[in-house]
Amino acid sequence: MTVPPYQDDVKNNERTNYFNSPALDVSVAFPQATPASTFPPCTSDNYQIDDLLTPEEQAIRLRVRECMEKDVAPIMAEYWEKAEFPFQIIPKLGALRIAGGTIKCNISGLSRIALCGSEAQKQKYLPSLAEFKTVACWGLTEPDYGSDASALRATATKVEGGWVLEGQKRWIGNSTFADVLIIFARNTTTNQINGFIVKKNAPGLTATKMENKIGIRIVQNGDILLNKVFVPDEERLPGVNSFQDTNKVLAVSRVMVAWQPIGLCMGVYDMCHRYLKERKQFGAPLAAFQINQEKLVRMLGNVQAMVLIGWRLCKLFEAGKMTPGHASMGKEKNTSRSLVESHSIDHTFQRSYFP
Ligand SMILES: Cc1cc2nc3c(=O)[nH]c(=O)nc-3n(C[C@H](O)[C@H](O)[C@H](O)COP(=O)(O)OP(=O)(O)OC[C@H]3O[C@@H](n4cnc5c(N)ncnc54)[C@H](O)[C@@H]3O)c2cc1C
Repeated sequence: MTVPPYQDDVKNNERTNYFNSPALDVSVAFPQATPASTFPPCTSDNYQIDDLLTPEEQAIRLRVRECMEKDVAPIMAEYWEKAEFPFQIIPKLGALRIAGGTIKCNISGLSRIALCGSEAQKQKYLPSLAEFKTVACWGLTEPDYGSDASALRATATKVEGGWVLEGQKRWIGNSTFADVLIIFARNTTTNQINGFIVKKNAPGLTATKMENKIGIRIVQNGDILLNKVFVPDEERLPGVNSFQDTNKVLAVSRVMVAWQPIGLCMGVYDMCHRYLKERKQFGAPLAAFQINQEKLVRMLGNVQAMVLIGWRLCKLFEAGKMTPGHASMGKEKNTSRSLVESHSIDHTFQRSYFP
């Protein structure tokens, strides 16, 4: 049997692997389609959940969307293919003033210092973190301790004037370029987990990018090596004295993780909705066929349920009533829903693209 060559192979014979290929140009195969780099209109707010937001929150949402449409959407496919981070958008994200504001946004590092830092550390780091002038990362996971993070092996040994950190970290997002790294290590005297603020150029610190990821490719995840890294006393987080303290921060992170799939699924829904209306087969837009309408309705229902969970989590958090159980269930429900929706986009969009 002769296997027909893929379109990309025909056009780019010199390219031997998928990840070196240019971003997929939908308009070549489907000239009437709106390019993927143009955001589709937001069509997923079926129950007018936007009304639950305050005018200030609605304004923030519009500002963020405008930035995503104008500054992020046109370049994201290219950076996704290259697995590189578009540093030029950092000042634009900073200008949105969304970190540390009314919406309790969980920017890596910021919330950790806000929750566990001393007054002096808050004064020193929070203003520039909130403006994205300083970038931070959160280093908990190790090569041998992921889910089992409480057993981590990196050590912090007390010496005169500070601490010496030794060990490894893995998967740490932003670590290849972060200005400050929040590192968790086991205190060799108390055997408890403590937290430390490590500066980018600290002697003995190296962070290497993890290659060949198949998801979240723009985020730079790194392997960190701590080879006798000295951290002064004033850079130890006084609020982290055990794994229980780390867990409090993890609960807050889960709110952020519960929101990530919401944005993704809203985008997936909008993209499918536009595509099915634009793409015609058998003499009618694909959206005219009931099987596709059923998929859209199912996705829409899921997106609405996810938004309500995310919104409620934020309200509980703001009122000081959010428990780790609330956060974990929200994260689980929303991430598992988004897996279902990612299958939907395979069926709705790609099967049409590769008939
Ligand atoms: C894109 C990305 C970004 C990340 N960013 C960061 C970061 O910025 N900072 C940071 O510190 N970490 C980060 N991590 C690490 C993340 O927290 C870990 O991947 C996570 O804790 C799981 O650890 P692991 O990958 O070692 O998997 P493992 O813990 O080895 O788990 C492997 C599989 O076994 C399952 N499993 C584990 N324990 C059990 C059990 N008791 N019962 C049943 N099943 C079990 C897990 O669900 C999983 O499916 C990131 C990871 C990814 C993928």
